[in-house]
Amino acid sequence: MALYYNEPIEIVGGKGNRVVDANGKSYLDFFAGILTNMIGYDVPEVREAVERQLATGVVHTSTLYLLRGQVELAEKIARLSGIPDAKVFFTNSGTEANETALLLATYARGSDQVLAMRQSYHGRSFGAISVTSNRSWKNNSLSPLNVHFLHGADRHLAQFRGMPDADYIAACTDDLRHVLATAVSKDVAALIAEPIQGVGGFTAAPDGLFAAYKEVLDEEGILFVSDEVQTGWGRTGSAFWGIQNHGVVPDMITFAKGLGNGFAIGGVVARGDLMDGPQAIGLSTFGGNPIATAAANATLDYVLDHDLQANAARTGDIIIGGLREAAGRLPVVGDVRGRGLMFAVELIDPATGGPAPELAARFMEETKRLGLLAGKGGLYGSTLRMAPPLTLTEDEAREGLGILVTALETVNDEAR
Ligand code: PLP
Repeated sequence: MALYYNEPIEIVGGKGNRVVDANGKSYLDFFAGILTNMIGYDVPEVREAVERQLATGVVHTSTLYLLRGQVELAEKIARLSGIPDAKVFFTNSGTEANETALLLATYARGSDQVLAMRQSYHGRSFGAISVTSNRSWKNNSLSPLNVHFLHGADRHLAQFRGMPDADYIAACTDDLRHVLATAVSKDVAALIAEPIQGVGGFTAAPDGLFAAYKEVLDEEGILFVSDEVQTGWGRTGSAFWGIQNHGVVPDMITFAKGLGNGFAIGGVVARGDLMDGPQAIGLSTFGGNPIATAAANATLDYVLDHDLQANAARTGDIIIGGLREAAGRLPVVGDVRGRGLMFAVELIDPATGGPAPELAARFMEETKRLGLLAGKGGLYGSTLRMAPPLTLTEDEAREGLGILVTALETVNDEAR
C-alpha cells in the first residue's frame, strides 16, 4: 500500500478538530480527513442522528421505498443550490456524482463531446477520468468521452504570465470560442469544472472567468456542471458554493466529501428538466441510504445553524494573512493562495524559482512532527494543501498558523 507520510500514521480517535494516533499523539487536523470531516470529530449531533436511525432497526431498506431523511436532505440541497426547479440524485461518492452528471448531460444533448479544465481532477472511474487532466492521476488511462481541456487555473503558462485578470479572461474566452468553432465535430454536451481545483493544488481561475464562459455556453446550449466536491458548503468563506464567487448559477452541481461528515454520501443537484429524462430514472442501491442521510442532515443543519461559512471566512483570513506575511521573509515560499478554509502554500527552489516537491515533502513531515496534518498536491507535488474542519476556532487557527510558520522557517533554513 502506498503511504502518504514516510512513517504511516494510524488514526485511532478524534474529537473536535483534532485526531489522535496509536501512540497517543494528538494532531490538529488541517485536512479534515480528506475534507470529509467537515464539522470535526465525534460531533454529538451527528452521532445522535446516526444512533437514532440505527435504533429504528431500518438500517437499509433500499431506495425502492420512500426514505423520509433522504427527501428532507434533497429538499434542503435543492433550495440551497439556487438552481431553478432543482432536483437531487444521491450517490456514495464524488466520482459517482460526476459520472451521473456526465450521463445526464451527454444524454440530454445527445453528444459524447465534453469540455473540462486543464489540471482538473474529477475522479477515476471511466467517465470521470476522461474529464480529469491532472497527469499524475490520469496516468495513461483511456478516455471513453471526447474531451477538450480549457484554460482556467493554468496562468503560470508563459503566454499568460503577468496578464491582468480582465485580459486573461478575454483570452481564455476567445480560446473557448475557437475550440467550439474549430475543434469539435458536433454539439458539445457540457463543461465540467472545479471552481477551485482541489487535487490540482488549490489553484483557481480569476473570479469572473466562469461567468464569461457561461455566456458562451448559454449561446450554444452547452450545460455547465460545477464540481463542488471540495468547494461546497461554505468552505471558501465568501460563498456557499465555490462557483458563486464567479457570480454563476450552474445547470448542475456535484457534491460529496464533507456532507456526511465521514459517512459516504454524494450526489448531483440539477435543473428538473435534466433530471426528468429517462437516464435519470436510475437507482443507486446505497446512494442516499438512511444512515448516510441521517449523518448528512445533521451535518448540513450544523453548518447552517452555526453559520460556518462566516467562520470559514474569519478563521481563513487569520491563517492566509499570517502565511502571506511570513512568505515575504521566506524565499522557499513561492505562493500562498486560497480562500476561506481552503488554502495552500507552494514551495519553490529559492535558487531557480522552480517547483520544489522535496521541500514540500519536508514541510509536510515537519508539520506532522509539530502536530498538524495537511495534504500534498499540485501539478508538481510542490504544494501543501490545507482545508481544516469548518468548525475551526480562532485559537486553533492561530495555533495552526504558528505551526505552519515554524515548519516553513525550518525548511527555509535547511534550504540555504
Ligand atoms: N471531484 C473532486 C473535485 C475531488 O476532489 C474528488 C476527490 O478528491 C472527486 C471528485 C472524487 O470524489 P470521490 O473520491 O468521493 O469519488
